[in-house]
Amino acid sequence: MEDDCIFCKIIKGEIPAEKVYEDDNFIGILDINPESEGHTLIFPKKHFESFLDMPSSLGSEFVDAIKKVSLGLVREGKAKGFNIVFNVYKVAGQEVPHVHAHIIPRKSDDGCKLKLVGGLRDKKMRSLK
Ligand code: AMP
Repeated sequence: MEDDCIFCKIIKGEIPAEKVYEDDNFIGILDINPESEGHTLIFPKKHFESFLDMPSSLGSEFVDAIKKVSLGLVREGKAKGFNIVFNVYKVAGQEVPHVHAHIIPRKSDDGCKLKLVGGLRDKKMRSLK
């Protein structure tokens, strides 16, 4: 646990969050600033700064938690697909330095513009046209 980490504080119950999932080692909460309805964050109860700092031995449990929450959203009719994202370090947009997966539910015409665009990929696509 890190004293100044928002997600550690949520785990300790020191700040409120809408918990949607919990098992021995992971927790899932609704994102306070969602990209789409049901946007959920899954993170380990133990503090690791980023995806790259987390031991790989936690990987399959992490995947299981992500799948359980995602399949639940499909069952509840809240998603037809997902963007599942890890931002790693500040330069890539990681604001909370406690590893977390974003589960962003998608439906057709959901108004969410999230898609990998721009950068070198976009330049290459444009040069092919
Ligand atoms: P990232 O930019 O990948 O670090 O994502 C951090 C996410 O945490 C953002 O989408 C925030 O909206 C979300 N967030 C920050 N504080 C809270 C909080 N107290 N409860 C729920 N979500 C939060």
